[in-house]
Amino acid sequence: MSSKIIIAVDGYSACGKSSTAKIVAQRLNYSYIDTGAMYRAVTLYFLQNYISLTNPKEVHKALEHIDIDFVFNERIHDSETFLNNKNVESEIRKMYISEQVSPVSAIKEVRSFLVAQQQKLGKKGGVVMDGRDIGTTVFPLAELKLFFTADFNVRAQRRQQELLEKKQMVEFDEILQNLRHRDEIDTTRKESPLVKAPDAYVLDTTYLAFDDQVDYVVKLAKEAIRRKEEVLGLTNKS
Ligand code: C5P
Repeated sequence: MSSKIIIAVDGYSACGKSSTAKIVAQRLNYSYIDTGAMYRAVTLYFLQNYISLTNPKEVHKALEHIDIDFVFNERIHDSETFLNNKNVESEIRKMYISEQVSPVSAIKEVRSFLVAQQQKLGKKGGVVMDGRDIGTTVFPLAELKLFFTADFNVRAQRRQQELLEKKQMVEFDEILQNLRHRDEIDTTRKESPLVKAPDAYVLDTTYLAFDDQVDYVVKLAKEAIRRKEEVLGLTNKS
């Protein structure tokens, strides 16, 4: 039996979840799955095809035509999101998607469609999965759960910097508003809202240096792996 664990990384946007999760996955030789990218890809498809969010039949039919993949790009040493065989990685990071993604993610059918895929992707373990409901809904039995948070203004500054690196100039106020709007929808929706799992470690990254937060998560992961090995009787007791 494998001693590879599932690491669930949840929390608010722009708290450093994905950048931390990515490096932790590399350090452990695990795969990294960005579930936010999946909700963004569905949002892009709905916008491109004028799907009405309030028409369950249309939503149901649209989901049947959506195929999402992650493909590793050697050149940038990172994985990219594909929607129906088209690379949509840069498109799904744009502000117009950030503005529409939370209402799409609140739809029950969209969630069950994506949660099933996420469970399939992670079921063998050896995965770091980042999102909003990983430790509560997708993998409630994940061996390690983390919940990221940070000061609101710091989050907005980080998001602005990230967007600038992608050559997108967005006003600070627009980013603040978008984060506030998404937090509100994500934490109050009926279907698996963003909440901390009772057994999740909280990481407030406001004053944490990036390398320190990565080291901390890797340390927690190694402890969790060790606990699993003990349970499976895989540790050398001599
Ligand atoms: O992680 P990211 O900020 O890219 O996620 C975009 C949006 O997707 C979130 O604001 C949330 O509405 C939705 N999401 C979700 N459940 C997840 C991951 C993302 O509802 N597991």
